[in-house]
Amino acid sequence: MSGLHDLQAYEVVEGIKQGLFSAEEYFSSVIKTLEHVESRLHSFITLDTDKALSCAKVIDGKLKANEDIGQLGGVVVGIKDNISTKGIRTTCASKILESYVPSYDATVIQRLKQNGAIILGKLNLDEFGMGSTTEYSSYYPTHNPWNLDYVPGGSSGGSGAAVAAGECTVSLGSDTGGSIRCPASFCSVVGLKPTYGRVSRYGLISYANSLEQIGPICRSVKDVVMIMNIISGKDNKDDTSMSSSPITINNKLEKFEIAIIKDLIDGSDDEVKRTIYSASEKFSDIGCMLDEISIKHLNYALPSYYTLASAEASSNLARYDNIRYGFNLPIEEYKWDTYFSDVRKNFGEEVKRRILIGSYVLSSGYYSKYYLKARGLRSLLKLELLKLFKKYDLLIGPTMPILPFKFGEKIDDPIKMYLVDINTVIANLAGIPAISLPVGFSNGLPIGLQIMAAPFEEQKLIDVSYALEQAINIQRRPKLE
Ligand code: GLN
Repeated sequence: MSGLHDLQAYEVVEGIKQGLFSAEEYFSSVIKTLEHVESRLHSFITLDTDKALSCAKVIDGKLKANEDIGQLGGVVVGIKDNISTKGIRTTCASKILESYVPSYDATVIQRLKQNGAIILGKLNLDEFGMGSTTEYSSYYPTHNPWNLDYVPGGSSGGSGAAVAAGECTVSLGSDTGGSIRCPASFCSVVGLKPTYGRVSRYGLISYANSLEQIGPICRSVKDVVMIMNIISGKDNKDDTSMSSSPITINNKLEKFEIAIIKDLIDGSDDEVKRTIYSASEKFSDIGCMLDEISIKHLNYALPSYYTLASAEASSNLARYDNIRYGFNLPIEEYKWDTYFSDVRKNFGEEVKRRILIGSYVLSSGYYSKYYLKARGLRSLLKLELLKLFKKYDLLIGPTMPILPFKFGEKIDDPIKMYLVDINTVIANLAGIPAISLPVGFSNGLPIGLQIMAAPFEEQKLIDVSYALEQAINIQRRPKLE
């Protein structure tokens, strides 16, 4: 089924502006696709279809009246359900926020709306972003559109699956340790985790705020650029945000020095290894120099990530006391000391595990042994990477060490689940930008290449990704007839 829902965001805007089709016609094509596949994928937690349809009509009205429809005029966007949307329920895939309706928009949402984007609904995730498969969603898991028996990756699994399947044209995800790049890789779409501070986190419900960024998941590099230029920039509501120059699509590529991270290749499955090596051969075709390196402090990445992320989570999640929002628990029936613990039984197993680990590593006596040590290791890794970026423009490797896997394969053992994040957490610890680009398939399952750059060097990521995208020209749409 190909149609208007298959178009990329920049084609949608051009088509509407040129009068090739109306915003409503394109919108109907997206909804038709959604109705056809959603019962199998479960990408969405909440849909706001009526409101979205009226927004499409407003776009058509504006066009008739010769008014500006905005850079994203009419484009249907899905939003990970941990990003606050005024008037649309925002659950974080948690029972504890089941009925929470924010009274304000996150800055990224405000910016999308100001530019004419249409918010279709809220996408599934692992509860509060903790996980790599969406199996930890308190509602239901999302299925991989390339093979419904397989996980779509996570935590932004809904964001990856929906874009791949044409249920929306682009989506926003959040990435604390790989949550944009992992589903992008598993669903054969492009996902960018921006430099820490490039995009405002105001309105993103915090999991581990020193690590996370909001970023786009799209079906092309060009769309990533379009969304990034709208959501990036200084925001007075987020003191860690910074202004940055816009990124562009350049047709001419500089001769970049690129290093392949050998350790990440060595730790990968054979099919992944093969595909990444054959993709990296294209780098010389597009005029780049390729070298191979090792990262000395790589072994510290995963332990320090899980120590710091859990510590921050335990502090950030302390606010869920059911007092200002939550579900109906008649307080009169409780003794003062059992209410809080009963409320917090509504967290899922993984979230409780993180809170326990986090409280432990922050507790007196263990704080310097674990938390401070993890911070020190994070600095070592960051310094090493920054030094490497003095020599190389870009570092590359597989986004994920393994192919997408079946439901239930990792969920029985948290360590197995944590290990799949080994390649992605590096960029969050160092605060650097990283993109996942689809480069191949094995047995019908997608494989993504991860490219990392120095802070605020997104332009380099885009330049090389765009060139590679043209050189590889990969299939982007799963068959879900
Ligand atoms: N899988 C990682 C975790 O569970 C990363 C999640 C994310 O980036 N939100 O922490």
